[in-house]
Parts: sequence; C-alpha cells; structure tokens
Amino acid sequence: MDTANLTLTVEAGCILQNLQDAADKAGFLFPLSLAAEGSCTIGGNLATNAGGTQVVRYGNARDLCLGLEVVTAQGEVWNGLSGLRKDNTGYDLRDLFIGSEGTLGIITAATLKLYPQPAAQLTAWAAVPSMQHAVTLLGLAHQHLGAGLTGFEVMGQFALSLVAKNFKQLRVPLYEDAAFCVLLENSDTESESHAREQFERLLETALEQGCVTDAVVAENIAQAHQLWHIRESIPLAQAEEGLNIKHDISIAVSRIPEFVEATDAILLQALPGVRLVNFGHLGDGNLHYNVQAPADGDAAAFLRDHEEEVNVLVYDSVASFGGSISAEHGVGSLKLDKLEQHKSPVALGMMRAIKQALDPQNLMNPGRVLRV
Ligand SMILES: Cc1cc2nc3c(=O)[nH]c(=O)nc-3n(C[C@H](O)[C@H](O)[C@H](O)COP(=O)(O)OP(=O)(O)OC[C@H]3O[C@@H](n4cnc5c(N)ncnc54)[C@H](O)[C@@H]3O)c2cc1C
Repeated sequence: MDTANLTLTVEAGCILQNLQDAADKAGFLFPLSLAAEGSCTIGGNLATNAGGTQVVRYGNARDLCLGLEVVTAQGEVWNGLSGLRKDNTGYDLRDLFIGSEGTLGIITAATLKLYPQPAAQLTAWAAVPSMQHAVTLLGLAHQHLGAGLTGFEVMGQFALSLVAKNFKQLRVPLYEDAAFCVLLENSDTESESHAREQFERLLETALEQGCVTDAVVAENIAQAHQLWHIRESIPLAQAEEGLNIKHDISIAVSRIPEFVEATDAILLQALPGVRLVNFGHLGDGNLHYNVQAPADGDAAAFLRDHEEEVNVLVYDSVASFGGSISAEHGVGSLKLDKLEQHKSPVALGMMRAIKQALDPQNLMNPGRVLRV
C-alpha cells in the first residue's frame, strides 16, 4: 500500500472482499462492490471490467486500475505495475488487457486506486411514477448530491413484486402503487447530519416537481442493508419464479425511458403474456432487461420456442437506440454470435488484429469474445 499515492498493489488471485477489508483497515475505500465480492478475484474483476453498485461515482474496474502485471501468450512477463496517474507514452496496454476476458494474456497483479472513506453513507428509497420520472430524479440527484451520489438503482414494479412474493420475510416498501422504485446512496465527506439534510432537500424538491410520490430514508445501517438486500434479491426472486431470458444492456440514460416503452410494446405485441422484469444501474445507463415466460404456460417450452426471437427483438431495439448488448456481463462464448452481429465490421477488424498480434496461436482463452 502506498498511502501517499493512494494506491494498493495486489496479486490477481486476491478475493475482492479481502482487498476491500485491507483498504478499510488502513482507513481507505476501495469502491468496487458487487454481490460476488466474497468469491470473485481482482484478476477476474479486471478481466471482465466489472461494474457493480458504485460506478456512477467511481467508474468500472478499468477506472480503478492504474497498472497491471501480465503474462503474455509468449510466456513473457510485462511489468506495468505503475502507480502513475499520468503517462502519455504511446498505446495504453493496460486498457487492452482490462475487459479482454483473458483472451490476450493472463493478469497476475494490479495496482489499484484507493479513495478516502466517506464520513457517512445514507440510503433512500423513492417511489416514482415512470421511468422518465426516474431519469428526472437522477438529474436532480446529480445536482443536489454532486460527487456524493454513489448509487442510483431502478427497480420495476413487477421485479419488486417477485421479491415480495418469493421472499416474504423481506418487506418491500412503496412498490404497490408505483411503476418504479429507486434506491439512492449518498456518501458524504462531512457528516451524517449533512448527508441527511442533503437527502431531505433533494427529496422535497423531487416531491414538489412530482417525479417522486413517496420516499423513505434509512434510519440506520441495518435498514440501509435491508433496502440493498431487496435490490440484490431480484435475480434470485426471478429464479424462484421460473426460467427467464436475461439481457444486460446499456443505453444513454436520456434515451432509456423511450427504449423501455418501445421494447415493452414490441415484446408484448409479438409474445402476449410475457412478463417484463426491469431493474438495474440506471445511474450508469445499465438495465437488466429480462423477460419472464407467461405466468400460466410451460416456461421451459417458452424458452425453447422463443428465446432466440426475444433476443433478436431486444438486441435489435438496443441497436436502434445506439446501445450495447453487454454492459457488464461480457461476451464469453454465449454472446459470440451476438457480438459479430452488433459490433461494426471496422471495430471487429481492429479487435481481430489485436488478438492476432498478441496471441497468434490463439492460446489465451480460445473460443471467448472473438471467433478467430
Ligand atoms: C452474484 C453475482 C453478482 C454479480 N454482480 C455483478 C455486478 O453487479 N457488476 C458486474 O460487473 N459484474 C457482476 N457479476 C459478474 C462479476 O463481474 C464477475 O463474476 C467477476 O468480476 C469475475 O471475477 P471472477 O474471479 O469470478 O472471474 P471468473 O468468473 O473466474 O472469470 C471471468 C473471466 O475472466 C477471465 N479471468 C479470470 N481471472 C483472470 C486473470 N487473472 N487474467 C486474465 N483473465 C482472467 C476468465 O478466464 C473468464 O473469462 C456478478 C457475478 C455474480 C456471481
């Protein structure tokens, strides 16, 4: 740890939570945070450019990394463990390996950014009448909280109803009369009372403008954890409900309301009865736009007969809004075809040239990201 430089250098096999704990013990924050943090490794986080819940303030894994050590396909070691925040000496090799899913080389160590710990962290839950209102609330939150806004998650009514139905012990607030609910996190550098005042001013303004109909601010850490737990339980509640088709997409925040309205209509017209589970990191323009089979049918048969059709409808709509078919889950082998369909030929050509130059024998994670 170099506390004056605000950096920490770790081996790639370090579990994310151990890294967070080490930073915390020394009085710092390492802000990458996701539900898999107890088992995922920093090498995996960097190879997949993981996002998580605080991207709106601190960025993806890429934004938190200053340097890498990598074993190349030729068996050489590139020591790029620089703690430099400025280095304009040609191509950025570090950024090539981050997000490459192990297809260019093996990350063996990384130098990461540390941040000061906030003095207080408060969580609020707000009911909003529509996705457009959620986007308006996001704008107000940026204005009122500035860099304090560290989380902004949106959850559709149907997604929350699945949590309420399948995990009855979790009391889901305010969702019954609201099309969407939003979870906001304010990390304040001054004090808890300052954070609370800021939240109250933000929510008052939002109520006056009609983009929020009701809201609660967590009274303590236990309540805050409970609210986050509800958000993180949506994928599990979906699994309890049955088979579904998942999409992890990103669209410019300003266009998300239009995208959701248009894509909902396209799907409901093509496949009446499908149930749309919509939630995600709205602050980053990243939605988990999932499609649950109709309630009264055979979900396995629905997926067998319609999964490809649903994917085509959703990804074509994403493309028409200038979005990405994979915001944080990567490409792997599952989305090889989709990447070829949706990435421009120029971009694919450059990706293949890089792969060919760094790994001409296709030794590194073959069959992932690119067909070569
Ligand atoms: C419950 C859960 C919640 C999640 N939530 C989020 C979320 O909110 N945001 C988000 O972005 N992601 C999320 N993810 C996905 C998450 O980003 C990845 O699971 C995690 O970052 C990958 O780390 P890992 O150590 O598990 O890697 P693995 O799953 O083992 O590997 C992932 C890929 O990286 C490659 N790889 C692994 N280590 C290295 C290395 N050292 N060098 C080169 N390549 C390597 C592997 O070959 C593989 O292709 C979630 C996953 C789970 C299970």
